[in-house]
Amino acid sequence: MKLLEERIRRDGKIRAGNVLKVDAFLNHQMDIGLFNEMGKEFYRLYGDQNVTKILTIEASGIGIACVAAQYFNVPVIFAKKTQTKNIDGGVYTAKVESFTHGKVYDIIVAKEFLTSGDRVLLIDDFLANGAALMGLSKLVEDAGAVVVGAGIAVEKAFQPGGELLRAKGLRVESLARVKSMSEDGSIEFC
Ligand code: 5GP
Repeated sequence: MKLLEERIRRDGKIRAGNVLKVDAFLNHQMDIGLFNEMGKEFYRLYGDQNVTKILTIEASGIGIACVAAQYFNVPVIFAKKTQTKNIDGGVYTAKVESFTHGKVYDIIVAKEFLTSGDRVLLIDDFLANGAALMGLSKLVEDAGAVVVGAGIAVEKAFQPGGELLRAKGLRVESLARVKSMSEDGSIEFC
């Protein structure tokens, strides 16, 4: 999606450890006009898939998922992140290793919000090693529901997540795919 690529070129900042900061329009301050175009594009890609729920992960996926949901006209569920080991019954859980913080945490979704009849679209801001998407997929599978695919804003294609998940048969659609980037500010898209 040209609009997103141009915005990344203009306002993105490349940090050590292969981290792309997009706080000016996506991860802190949010450009809702841009989110709206992203939501429209996710709907163009997945609008024929009879999606019944959108599932994302707190915090940065929520805004994108909510705007997209207005096109799909379905509820958004966000998986909560928790550090607790003892989780009450009534939830689906998965372990996710955070790309940005390195910690492993549990994500949870209440069982009442994901059921076996659901067709779920996963949405997230970034795809790096794929841990977040794998955790979200597990929650859906544990519920006996179907993952129709994933909609990602920015995929860092030089990291292994995209290839790994596609090899497992997951449909992954990313609006901007970064082929390479370096701390001197240069960035190349696929
Ligand atoms: P993965 O689980 O695929 O390794 O990483 C995806 C998650 O890590 C996303 O939910 C996102 O919050 C975070 N993340 C990964 N890479 C980046 C990055 O370059 N920039 C930002 N802002 N977040 C990232």
